[in-house]
Amino acid sequence: MLLLMLERGMPIDMVLTADTGMEFPEMYAHLAKLDEHLYHERGIHLTMLRHPKGFEYLMFEEKKQKPSSIENREKLGISLYGNGWPGVKVRWCTGQLKTHLINKEVNRLKGKYQVLHYIGIAADEPKRIKNEQYPLVDWGITEAEALRICYDRGYDWGGLYEIYHRCSCWCCPLQRIDELRKLRHHHSELWQKLREMDQRAIEQFGHNPLGQFKKDWTVERLEQRFAAEDAQISVFLCAEKENEWKRNR
Ligand code: SF4
Repeated sequence: MLLLMLERGMPIDMVLTADTGMEFPEMYAHLAKLDEHLYHERGIHLTMLRHPKGFEYLMFEEKKQKPSSIENREKLGISLYGNGWPGVKVRWCTGQLKTHLINKEVNRLKGKYQVLHYIGIAADEPKRIKNEQYPLVDWGITEAEALRICYDRGYDWGGLYEIYHRCSCWCCPLQRIDELRKLRHHHSELWQKLREMDQRAIEQFGHNPLGQFKKDWTVERLEQRFAAEDAQISVFLCAEKENEWKRNR
């Protein structure tokens, strides 16, 4: 959306983006490249909105304040600090690290100026449309077309979208198991960090929804599953090689 707005000469005073701190390194490189382009074209930089203390602080250290949640946690014998792993019903991270920061800044601007707020939702995401400006929707550009438009202009996220289906937080427990399999394969250092985070979550919260990475799966069990799959593949490849050798004898 931003690239097309720049190309079409639309007025842009500020570009907001929220950084959870858990984006892929390739995403940060992409944002730096985009920032450079924006500065070159319009003399402004991206405005990165970040929670002052970040994802891990909120997950492990934020002290619970609400009397009802303190009472509830005391009853269950759970730590009074941290929100634990986000889940489908409690996506504290989206709220605190993205939407709250953006809404707060947009509302601040709306209090001072007449604001047109453009949001990069694509034409095939109608459920996400609310009461703002949606140029991609107006132009009938779908998610896939938007991606192609970026590729055509040299923005490829270092190949991230060729590997992953979605490229938001690498530690997201809501992503598919297959995405986690790819994370282990393509970003082993992040996978290692995820194993450490889950270990810490289990130690702090125990085996309950706050300490549960995914229903029925800890990251360590996924590690064992993926390692076993890799071992099976290599046994299969060895058997293939042996058959080929026999055939060629
Ligand atoms: S991608 Fe996942 S972890 Fe990141 S903010 Fe969204 S729900 Fe939370």
